[in-house]
Amino acid sequence: MEKLSSDTIRSVCSGQVITSPYSIVKELIENALDAGASIIEIRLEENGLGKIEIRDNGCGIKEEDRPSVALPHFTSKLKNFSDLFLVNTYGFRGEAVSAICSIAKVAMITRHSSDSVAKSYMVRSDGVLSQTGTIHNNVGTTFIVTELFKNLPVRKKFYQGKKGKEQLNEIDHFIRGIAIANPSVRFMLRHNRQLVWQHASSRHLKDSMASVYGTVGDMIEINYSKEDSGVQVTGMLSTSGKSSKKPPFIVVNKRLVKFKALQKSFKKLYDNMFPSGAVCITLSPNLVDVNVEVDKSAVICRNEADLISIVEEIVGKQVLNTESPQNMSVNQ
Ligand code: ADP
Ligand code: MG
Repeated sequence: MEKLSSDTIRSVCSGQVITSPYSIVKELIENALDAGASIIEIRLEENGLGKIEIRDNGCGIKEEDRPSVALPHFTSKLKNFSDLFLVNTYGFRGEAVSAICSIAKVAMITRHSSDSVAKSYMVRSDGVLSQTGTIHNNVGTTFIVTELFKNLPVRKKFYQGKKGKEQLNEIDHFIRGIAIANPSVRFMLRHNRQLVWQHASSRHLKDSMASVYGTVGDMIEINYSKEDSGVQVTGMLSTSGKSSKKPPFIVVNKRLVKFKALQKSFKKLYDNMFPSGAVCITLSPNLVDVNVEVDKSAVICRNEADLISIVEEIVGKQVLNTESPQNMSVNQ
């Protein structure tokens, strides 16, 4: 038996963190949001296989932190395991940038608020940076990812053709959802230089929903907050179900999640269909475990059954106008 070389370990494990063009876009957008960006521009070529460029106007990366950005398990967001239960950033494992570098060619441009100019870098597959120039950019960070899956030919082939188009749809859907979770952030998505979608920043969920869905004519706003329960629910949902395979966006503490049990509830309430819209749930961080899946798309909530019955009750009362016997606690 032999131990794998560290290069092989990196490539094998990275293929699990970064499984698709979509997962790169998701990780880089989440990093931009963690950096406090209010404008995030996403430019893709060939469904992300040709190029993924994400530009933000966040805080930028300090010169002394740059050498560790692409090294595995370096993060500026989490110090101890005990912090994990209070984490309010999207990232905390320090895996994404390092993983992307080991399966693609990565360039980075960044200017921290304390810098007078931006600097550009090439990042090697082992995460080591080399500076390539100086640029007059605004404060913020840009990642440019090309030659995706250069060392994973089967994966690359898989995403060429039909699967690639599905990736673009998945990316588009994710950006709409993350815009609902962060209505004050401006998003723009371009594919092969064409504008696909943009979202102007707004303080109101209603405006974000209108920009995501085109119209919110058949949607009703929901609102619930009860301090002692540590639960707050807002959102907008259509009054009748659509035969769409897509459930409404479910956001828990600003994370877009697949909340299977809640999706099931929607099907129950909407005659085996899904409403369109979004439900945004805010829970005190100690009631949620976000470290369940590699891509953090699932969360485990403490008192999940209670939470689901709260949402069912609100939807029943505020959207569908159906009284349920035990719904005395829901504010209208
Ligand atoms: P994580 O997000 O889990 O910390 P990543 O590998 O995604 O891990 O990023 C590593 C580190 O690089 C982050 O902790 C952050 O300090 C820095 N970073 C990455 N992207 C950005 C960005 N767009 N703006 C500012 N800092 C960034
Ligand atoms: Mg991250």
